[in-house]
Amino acid sequence: MADVKKRALITGITGQDGGHLTELLHEKGYEIYGIIRGQHNPQRARVEAEFPYLNLIEADLTDTSSLVRAVAVSKPDEIYNLGAISHVGYSFKNPQLTADVTGKGVLNLLEAVRMAGFEKTARIYQASTSEMFGGLEYNQPEGGYTEESSFHPRSPYGVAKLYAHWISRNYRESYGMFISCGILFNHEGDRRGLEFVTRKITNAVARIKLGKQEFITLGDLWPKRDWGYAGDYVEGMWRMLQQDTPDDFLLATGETHSIEEFLDLAFKEIGIEDWHPYVKQDPRFMRPAEVDVLLGNPAKAEKVLGWKRKVDFPGLVKLMVQHDLDLESK
Ligand code: GDP
Repeated sequence: MADVKKRALITGITGQDGGHLTELLHEKGYEIYGIIRGQHNPQRARVEAEFPYLNLIEADLTDTSSLVRAVAVSKPDEIYNLGAISHVGYSFKNPQLTADVTGKGVLNLLEAVRMAGFEKTARIYQASTSEMFGGLEYNQPEGGYTEESSFHPRSPYGVAKLYAHWISRNYRESYGMFISCGILFNHEGDRRGLEFVTRKITNAVARIKLGKQEFITLGDLWPKRDWGYAGDYVEGMWRMLQQDTPDDFLLATGETHSIEEFLDLAFKEIGIEDWHPYVKQDPRFMRPAEVDVLLGNPAKAEKVLGWKRKVDFPGLVKLMVQHDLDLESK
C-alpha cells in the first residue's frame, strides 16, 4: 500500500514550540523531519531521546544550500518555520545575528523551497509574533490588537520578525505560495526556556520552596503580557495549514496580566502570600526599549479556525510551578 503519511519539516525543533508541535504531529500520524543546527548541539541528545521517531537533518537558516537539501530530503507537505533567535533581551545584545537568522533566514528558507521545486505543493507556517506590535503606547485598540492593526516593533527581534512577516506575505502574493503567518502572543509552559520571565519565575519558586535558592532577580515587573499555553498554540498553527487558502491569524487569550500578577499566583502555589522579600530587581534584566502592555484579540482564529485556548492564566501558572516542583525535587 502506498505511503499516505503526511510529511512535515520543522525548523526550531529544539525549542519550546518545536517540542509541542512534534508531539501533536506525531499523534496525527505525520512523518516528521526536524532541522538541527551546529556541530556539537547540546540539545541533540535530549531531542533524540524524547522523540525517537523524529528524522533530524543538519541545516542552518543562514545557509540556503543546506535548506535546499533539507527540503529535497524531507519532501514536505507542510513546513513550520519555528527557528529563530527568539529572545527579545538577547536580540539587543546580538542585533545583527538576529537580523540574519530571524529575518533573512526566512527569505533563505522560502528561496530554498522554490529552488527545491516545492513552492506549489508545500504549505508553510511562519511564526510571526506580538512583538511586531509596540504595546499600549502604539495603536493597541481597546479590545486588543487584531490582524489589521499597524506595527511598531520595539526591539531588534521585533524588527527582524516584521521583515520575516512581510517577506512571507510578499512570496504569497508574488508566487502564489501557500504561506500562513501566525501572529502568536506570548505562549509558555513546561518546555519554556529559563531565559523567559515566566519559566524563570516558576523555576525559582520551586527552588525556593525546596530550599535550593533564596531569592530571584528580575527586571521590570510592571509590563503586561497576554500569556497563553504553548500546547494550545501549536494546535492553532496546524489548523492554519489545513485551510483551503493561506492567511494570517492572531492567536492570543484576550487577557493581559502583569509580571506582578504572575508572581502573586506562582508564590501562592507554594503557600507564600507576600513575594516581595524573595524578589530583587537588577537593571541587567531591563531593556533599552520596553513593550508596556500586550493584548490580543483572537476573534478571527476562533471563528475561522475553530481554535480556542484551553488553559487559562491561573491554570498556566499552576502547571508550570507544579512541573518545576517535580523537576527540581528529582
Ligand atoms: P517577551 O515578551 O517576548 O520579551 O518575553 P519575556 O518572557 O522575555 O519577557 C516578558 C516581560 O518580562 C518583558 O517585559 C521583560 O522586560 C520582563 N522581565 C522582567 N524581568 C525579566 C527577566 O528577568 N527576564 C526576562 N526574560 N524578562 C523579564
